[in-house]
Amino acid sequence: MSKFDRFGLGLAKGLALTGKTLLSRPNITVQYPEQRLDVSRRLRGPELVWVALKCTGCATCAKSCPQGSIELATSQELVDNKYEVVEFLVDHGRCMFCGLCVEACPFDALYMGRGYERAAYRRGDLVLPKEKLQMSADRQPSAYCRPEMEAELPLQTLLVYGQTRAKR
Ligand code: SF4
Ligand code: SF4
Repeated sequence: MSKFDRFGLGLAKGLALTGKTLLSRPNITVQYPEQRLDVSRRLRGPELVWVALKCTGCATCAKSCPQGSIELATSQELVDNKYEVVEFLVDHGRCMFCGLCVEACPFDALYMGRGYERAAYRRGDLVLPKEKLQMSADRQPSAYCRPEMEAELPLQTLLVYGQTRAKR
């Protein structure tokens, strides 16, 4: 300990640095849930988004899933080179959001989602049928594995760089 520290010089230096940081650096937090940030445009969010019109029922996604999280039932007959998808279930409780099914889909019918508030009280509530997997205002696809979609999505908010824009 130097003799100056005995007079509280170290404490004064510390407080000066704290004060400088307080006044000069922008906030890097927001008031969630009133304020929400824009997530990465390529987010592998904790949900899948399915587009019924593009799906041919080929089941490549289900075969690619290492977790067996996707269950698919289709008609046996091809119509317009497509099978009718009778059932399309995704167990988000088992899914590890690796994105392999999205990468494997040859018809761009499956996307990783941009939602992030998907907690549920019961595991059963995480098993979603095709009606709940479809794209909607609350269920939007990310550009993960689909970089051509990036330009349409909002830029990620990066508060760490002093960007203060946040959704209200
Ligand atoms: S993201 Fe991965 S674990 Fe989840 S359903 Fe697709 S392949 Fe399976
Ligand atoms: S891989 Fe794509 S087109 Fe084939 S069943 Fe899955 S979502 Fe449908």
